[in-house]
Amino acid sequence: STRSSADLIRAEEPVLAHNYHPLPVVVARAEGTWVEDVEGRRYLDMLAGYSALNFGHRHPALIEAAHAQLDRLTLTSRAFHNDRLAEFAERLAELTGLDMVLPMNTGAEAVESGIKVARKWAYEVKGVPADRATIVVAAENFHGRTTTIVSFSTDETARAGFGPFTPGFRIVPYNDLAALEAAVDETTAAVLLEPIQGEAGVVIPDDGYLTGVRELTRRKGCLFIADEIQSGLGRTGRTLAVEHEGVVPDVLLLGKALGGGIVPVSAVVARRDVLGVLRPGEHGSTFGGNPLAAAVGTAVVELLETGEFQSGAAELGSVLRDGLTGLVGKGVVGFRARGLWAGVDIDPEIGTGREVSKLLMHEGVLVKDTHGSTIRLAPPLTITAEELESALGVLEKVLRR
Ligand code: PLP
Repeated sequence: STRSSADLIRAEEPVLAHNYHPLPVVVARAEGTWVEDVEGRRYLDMLAGYSALNFGHRHPALIEAAHAQLDRLTLTSRAFHNDRLAEFAERLAELTGLDMVLPMNTGAEAVESGIKVARKWAYEVKGVPADRATIVVAAENFHGRTTTIVSFSTDETARAGFGPFTPGFRIVPYNDLAALEAAVDETTAAVLLEPIQGEAGVVIPDDGYLTGVRELTRRKGCLFIADEIQSGLGRTGRTLAVEHEGVVPDVLLLGKALGGGIVPVSAVVARRDVLGVLRPGEHGSTFGGNPLAAAVGTAVVELLETGEFQSGAAELGSVLRDGLTGLVGKGVVGFRARGLWAGVDIDPEIGTGREVSKLLMHEGVLVKDTHGSTIRLAPPLTITAEELESALGVLEKVLRR
């Protein structure tokens, strides 16, 4: 492109829906941990596409898998079988310790699909009377943007103007087992939770919460659906965030990094007695399970099978934690971190999360605020200790201004 960043930003305004408020940087190319704008300025990517780029930009193994598949077969629809889907499902099930995979495309679709599966399971297996199933969710959740999903959001901006809403959801405070116990009854199909709430600001529940949710859902005879679309696939130093408590959910929702930052790939992964309730014609997706997605998804699973990304995230997680600990009282009022993932609360006196994000951008570090004065750090898991320390140095400098 021969158009400048300023020109491209101006050009978007009349022709693009204004549902985002991006930082004023126009990315033109990227490699690994680094992105480059139209003018050739380089930035360290400390957001990694909200964890869709866990393996960095254009990871060679993923690009190779995509190229090879582009040269053979890209789409069949599920009207026919394709020669890549069986291996993807086998290896994803093996990686997660579950039995069956329902391939979809985006995160929101995986959540929607998980809700449908849980409701059907409630009617067919649990015996909940028709149309009475409930699903219990947590306040401050983020599960996507469809009409059903925003029906159980507690973020007014995400909901206002989009009703009427889908019934059948109960909202309880996050990290509160007593409230969950009180909300679950004989109509409850599932408890749907993020093991760590990403968009809420990387909110980590107390130790024992996820174990408690597992115990409670088992005892009450409902499903535990873990939305690991943002927390999963290496981000926290384990393949799944639920592994920190040794918990296995009944239903696992994956997305983002499953597509290697190349194509949208999501999945509902579950036990056979749960996903087995779906029969032909009851659910589907034209692109879900397409051979390009399956090839890239298989290559992602292959990277995770090495365990290198998980252990790297755990090791560098202590660099991140130490760095942030050193900034507490120096512009940082608090933070929550697990693996290579942190929500950092900036002293509101210094500025909003967006203002700090802009200052970081001018210093060559890309992050995104969540809300208020919180910024989120989630670099590619391929980041080096030196790069991470340099990003933390830039944050220190910006906060010292
Ligand atoms: N669930 C969680 C936990 C997420 O963080 C997100 C996206 O941020 C979604 C679901 C929705 O994913 P998508 O934007 O691909 O629809």
